[in-house]
Amino acid sequence: MTTTFTPRPIAPDTLKRLRHTDDAGRPCVPFTDPEGGDPLRCCLRPARQGERIALVSYAPLRRWAAETGADPGAYDEQGPVFIHADLCEGPAPAPAEYPYVRPGALRTFRRYDAGGNIVGGRLLEVPEDTTAAFDEALTEAFADPRVALVHVRAVEYGCFHFEVRRPA
Ligand SMILES: [Zn+2]
Repeated sequence: MTTTFTPRPIAPDTLKRLRHTDDAGRPCVPFTDPEGGDPLRCCLRPARQGERIALVSYAPLRRWAAETGADPGAYDEQGPVFIHADLCEGPAPAPAEYPYVRPGALRTFRRYDAGGNIVGGRLLEVPEDTTAAFDEALTEAFADPRVALVHVRAVEYGCFHFEVRRPA
């Protein structure tokens, strides 16, 4: 069993830059995760105890737009994400479930068109069958032909979890 849609980690080229200077222009400051558990957006899993990680500011829509030529304008946002401080392997290619799923957690699915404008979104309270619920929320998002990509975020802290692009 795998997920219908592919959760995308932060791209390797972007990680290389973020490990030097983040999207807010601040230098990357690595530290050792004392207990583990911080959610890594490079490998789409929690950090293990003792891993060298960093908390950096990341602008997912701006990074996507730089690739596609879109102009997100005022929709551009940046926020904190944990990443490995050093070169890492990234997530497994065909995940059995979506990352950071926990029944009862609240997620928002923000939809963007090819121009980088927001075109709606929805809230999901994650149920027991996490994969089915994420598959359904993403199927619903891409049923709108305008939607080019979706950002999944935590509701309480607003932090960016991962991006899903319209399947080719
Ligand atoms: Zn990593």
